[in-house]
Amino acid sequence: MTTTITLYDIYTKHPVISTDTRRITPGSLFFALKGDKFDANTFAQKAVEAGAAYAVIDNSEYQLGNQYLLVEDVLATLQDLARHHRRQLSIPVVGLTGTNGKTTTKELINAVLSQHFKSQATQGNLNNHIGVPLTLLTIDASHEVAVIEMGANHQKEIELLCSIAQPSHGLITNVGKAHLEGFGGVEGVKKGKGELYDFFAALPLKTGASKTDGVVFVNSDDTVLMEMAAARRLPHVEYYGTDAIDNLISGELLENSPLLTLEWTNNKTGDSYKVKTQLTGTYNLPNILVAICIGTYLGLSANEINAGIEGYQPKNNRSQIVQTATNTLICDYYNANPSSMFVAIENVGKIEAKRKVLILGDMFEMGPEAATEHASVIRKAMDTAVDERIFIGKDFLSQQSEAGSGGEATFYETSEDAIAGLKAHPITNSTILIKGSRGMALERLVELF
Ligand code: ATP
Ligand code: MG
Repeated sequence: MTTTITLYDIYTKHPVISTDTRRITPGSLFFALKGDKFDANTFAQKAVEAGAAYAVIDNSEYQLGNQYLLVEDVLATLQDLARHHRRQLSIPVVGLTGTNGKTTTKELINAVLSQHFKSQATQGNLNNHIGVPLTLLTIDASHEVAVIEMGANHQKEIELLCSIAQPSHGLITNVGKAHLEGFGGVEGVKKGKGELYDFFAALPLKTGASKTDGVVFVNSDDTVLMEMAAARRLPHVEYYGTDAIDNLISGELLENSPLLTLEWTNNKTGDSYKVKTQLTGTYNLPNILVAICIGTYLGLSANEINAGIEGYQPKNNRSQIVQTATNTLICDYYNANPSSMFVAIENVGKIEAKRKVLILGDMFEMGPEAATEHASVIRKAMDTAVDERIFIGKDFLSQQSEAGSGGEATFYETSEDAIAGLKAHPITNSTILIKGSRGMALERLVELF
């Protein structure tokens, strides 16, 4: 059996990790992970033939020579290797989790920090028990800071990811309604995400924390997070939010049309700055403020911070603005859950636009809460001042009666039905929010506008 220490020696000479035989980097270290439908032990030989220096396997049947490193469990070995690597690094590692806005916040923090440091961050959404170790193993001696996104849909997942990434700085974006099935309701989500605070609370208490000590950043406007933070003995907390009291950074929205412009203040110096972003959604305000807060805490200048924020463009249909010939689209169909639906609808209510339309698709993974949650989103949409409301999917359709009989809402069972309906009644000169769960594939609607 190969030990983690031996493997670490090998990793330092072969620091590129591969897990997919279709994309082997010559000289890399191949980890034969298992999925629901495959066991990559069976691909180990292919990986070596494709140029991998070594294949890490956990089935001796596939050990065909000294390039095959047999371990007890490939996944646990990958995680141990990443944990060991993290221990060798003396750089700040910002770890973040939360129900909504993790990727956006991670990218904003990275956009800010990379104005000053050589920063490494989670690629895309690689935020799970495999993605986190893989990300950590891409950090090399040249990096000065790292930003690690941690996702979870059940208890103990964040605990594990924190034990691997050992964040020196951390935050929870928010705690809301998502993956209710896996977490067991909202209280379960609080507990599961709270594992990040638990990790910091277990660190030794220090006086006058330095930049690499355990610092938690908390949104002072979020009463749930404030309660969760107060319930634990956190070594060092810095606050951000709209209120100046006790916050390192405070900020307020100046414009939402639909891109956000805000003013933020460093309450230590009293200096204020204006920054124009390429983001929409008032819900992005805390995401932006925490990036400013972490940048400030780590010593960046206001110019560097603003350059990072201004330069950041959302990607992959996370609140992305698309201007067509006659409409402004808010493409937010990357995912959806009741919390993010509520804030996205509220945002459309607040933005400055002549004509507003909501196109909302079903939210998945709701378990027994599906009916009530879809009903409450319908009510929220009906209570928001917009010109047209379109609901797509079986779950919304089953709650149609919530919309009343005023004819102010249209329901379609499937995206195909919606496409046919929208072709017959085209939408023009409007700002249109398009949001639903990934599985609804609402991107198919975009060409209609
Ligand atoms: P995932 O769980 O898929 O990794 P995530 O937490 O990384 O998601 P993002 O991809 O950044 O989240 O954003 C997804 C959507 O969540 C956005 O398009 C937006 O609708 C919503 N969102 C972003 N920030 C917030 C926030 N602070 N509060 C509520 N909703 C938000
Ligand atoms: Mg994400």
